[in-house]
Amino acid sequence: MQATHNHDAVLAILKPTPAPGFVVGDVPMPSAAPGQVLLRVAAASVCGTDVHLYDWNPWAAARVIPPRVVGHEVCGEVIGWGDGVHGPALGTRVAVESHIVCGYCDECRRGDFHVCENTRILGVDVDGAFATHLAVPLANVWPVGDAVPPDVAAAMEPFGNAVHACSYGELSGRTVVVFGCGPIGCAAIAVARVQGAARVVGVDRNEYRLNLAERMGAHSIVRATDNAVDDAVRSAAGDAIDCVLEMSGSPVAVASATRLVRPGGWISLLGIGDGPDVVDLSSDVVMKGLSLYGIAGRRIPATWEQVTAYVQDGVIDVRALITHRFGLSDIDGAIALMKSGQCGKVTLTPE
Ligand SMILES: [Zn+2]
Ligand SMILES: [Zn+2]
Repeated sequence: MQATHNHDAVLAILKPTPAPGFVVGDVPMPSAAPGQVLLRVAAASVCGTDVHLYDWNPWAAARVIPPRVVGHEVCGEVIGWGDGVHGPALGTRVAVESHIVCGYCDECRRGDFHVCENTRILGVDVDGAFATHLAVPLANVWPVGDAVPPDVAAAMEPFGNAVHACSYGELSGRTVVVFGCGPIGCAAIAVARVQGAARVVGVDRNEYRLNLAERMGAHSIVRATDNAVDDAVRSAAGDAIDCVLEMSGSPVAVASATRLVRPGGWISLLGIGDGPDVVDLSSDVVMKGLSLYGIAGRRIPATWEQVTAYVQDGVIDVRALITHRFGLSDIDGAIALMKSGQCGKVTLTPE
């Protein structure tokens, strides 16, 4: 399909070499391969993963092969089709699922696409979304309609993590504690409220994020300190904590969650820690009959369907999570702000 293929250069944010930092530079205009669509990027948002890529932490160094266009949370407009693709209509606004799955491994054949063995992640394993244009498989685009603003559509991917984390058990009438009040934790607070949780408590070390947690509907907030977190959470949430949504990745928070949740309760684990886990499995998980649910990406399509309902009907104000906006070429400023912790979701817009 020649229409989508040309050699014009486009602006992109790259990890150029296996070292810290990004560069803003020109890359060849992407083209839609067979089975792909070509998108003009309308908005993208920055994730903690992008900060890890920027810093070139051990995970990034082991996984990413530069040069790589980074970024994976994105909204675009369909402007071209690869061979074998006959939609969505040109001009359609789409959100993007960042996990490109194989469709043929055992997990995919079971419908568990979110744990596909051959997952390739946009902006990590293949060129990504911090660019004026990108090409993605047709299966990864999710039409949202023009009523959903591009910055909100870009944030549907991380918002989906929150929705997925909330989906393990019933929240109506329950007491829910959220450890880690970054954008996903704050989104989870909003989802828990909408699902009718009786009491939602947000826990974080960061004042800015605790304020955001309150704005998103937390009944109370707990400032995490090095000790006495359990007591502080119990005094805010009561003794009958039905579930914890663990978004912080702190091993200390995970251990605290297992102590706090009532016998028979459950924990969704989304945060990825960089320290050794210190959970007392025998007494705090086995003997209490807890359920631990790992949140890998989003269930496809169930999570996306739920996210769409929340976003399209305005049930949850996802835009309230978006606190800062930068031009694509000011990625260094966006990353610096992310590292300061004085922000919610940070959005990039192509100039
Ligand atoms: Zn992300
Ligand atoms: Zn697969």
